[in-house]
Amino acid sequence: MLLPCLNPCGYEQDVRENPDGKDLNREFNVPHPAAEICFVHPILQQHFDLVIDLHDDRDSHGYYLYQSVDAGAEAVGRQIVDRVRNVTSINVNSEIEGGAAGRGVIDGPCNPDRLAWWPLAAYAQIHGVKRVLTLEAPGRHSIEVRVQAHLAAIEAAIEYCTRLDCK
Ligand SMILES: [Zn+2]
Repeated sequence: MLLPCLNPCGYEQDVRENPDGKDLNREFNVPHPAAEICFVHPILQQHFDLVIDLHDDRDSHGYYLYQSVDAGAEAVGRQIVDRVRNVTSINVNSEIEGGAAGRGVIDGPCNPDRLAWWPLAAYAQIHGVKRVLTLEAPGRHSIEVRVQAHLAAIEAAIEYCTRLDCK
């Protein structure tokens, strides 16, 4: 299932927020969420083995990702980074967005109970999705490079999870 654009007005105006000024990826646990989130909630309550949230990080010089995965699948992030490396540079900082990172992979989210706000990933995790990936393409590169990097990452993730589930 593909949800191509979860913030259509933000996309058109090239801003992060929706028309009401809400940062949608901070509001997945609020009592009365925005319409865009109300659209996504029931979809994420279905059974999925893998959810991938595709992002851009305008400040990043390289690709990186957040992973929340079941035991045994920890290597998926590493495999994605190894694949994306053929397309663009990787953000190898030891800290990214305030979190500890290792060669482009941030393990998390979470204990959603301890998060003041939930991103989409936390909501999916709470609703039983086994593997949740948030992929961050480097905003300093062209749209073509970012798309190719995300495609390489998606391919690697699906291959990895298919292998795992077929064992
Ligand atoms: Zn992001």
